[in-house]
Amino acid sequence: MLATNGRLKLALQRSGRLTDESVQLLRSCGLAFEHSRQSLSSPCSNFDLDILAIRDDDIPEFVQDGVAHLGIVGQNILSEKQARTRALLPLGFGYCRLMVSVPERSRIRSVRDLAGLRIGTTYPATLRAFLKKQKVAAKIVKLSGSVELSPALNVADAICDIVSTGSTARMNGLRPLLTVMESQAVLVAHPQSLSDKRSGQLIERLLIRVRAVLEARGKRYLMMNAPADALPKLQKVIPSLKSPTVVPLAVSGMVAVHSVVAEDVFWDVMERLKAAGATDIVVVPIETIVR
Ligand code: AMP
Repeated sequence: MLATNGRLKLALQRSGRLTDESVQLLRSCGLAFEHSRQSLSSPCSNFDLDILAIRDDDIPEFVQDGVAHLGIVGQNILSEKQARTRALLPLGFGYCRLMVSVPERSRIRSVRDLAGLRIGTTYPATLRAFLKKQKVAAKIVKLSGSVELSPALNVADAICDIVSTGSTARMNGLRPLLTVMESQAVLVAHPQSLSDKRSGQLIERLLIRVRAVLEARGKRYLMMNAPADALPKLQKVIPSLKSPTVVPLAVSGMVAVHSVVAEDVFWDVMERLKAAGATDIVVVPIETIVR
């Protein structure tokens, strides 16, 4: 299932919150392509892949219909469009939550209190499924934007909208009540393009790269020198040093030790390694980890 030119097509958001990180991720995978907001399709010069830049609302349908083999889109859009696509990988960016918020002074305290009320949203399908699961009958008011203004305009009693910090809701006198869904960007595929030999192979090659880039995110490569007899102590500090790379140094009794550490614990680990006898600690970024 490949387009006539035998190339894979991947759809990403043309211009918006997910665009830069989507492009960055693909470039980190070694894909060379021009990205301009003006062009709909950009060919990769070193992989049989064309990048389609389209509205994110259209991505689920494009992938469902096989116009694109792959897409990068928020789970929130995927859920709302209810398109038949196969989710391959969460991508670790574009985090947000779809939340129900209510006017600050309202008496609504729980999902039950929404029964019989009007909820304004641009996510009617996702909200409907959520309310059904909660067995709450509320009226869904479909809006196409400016959702947070709807309670003040008396169009709705509550809203269901995307929130990342909650500051927009607060600025509009709203209080977050509950989370309908958590979301991040995901890589999705047209199901048939996975089983097709040629497109399936190309997707598999691309997936190996994407996984390797994601695996390396938030990790650092750590090198240090230490007296050979300090090794047991160093291993206690970094559990991943079960099988560390240990290289003898020219100075007898000294070794170089290499390992990978998570970025968020690095400073803490470094202090403890120093206390355990490590010196000359060097930390370098990692671009990819292929397992
Ligand atoms: P945009 O249309 O450019 O605002 O991009 C919207 C997409 O970015 C959403 O569908 C979400 O998947 C994601 N996103 C991440 N954080 C937020 C946020 N604070 N508000 C809206 N969308 C967000």
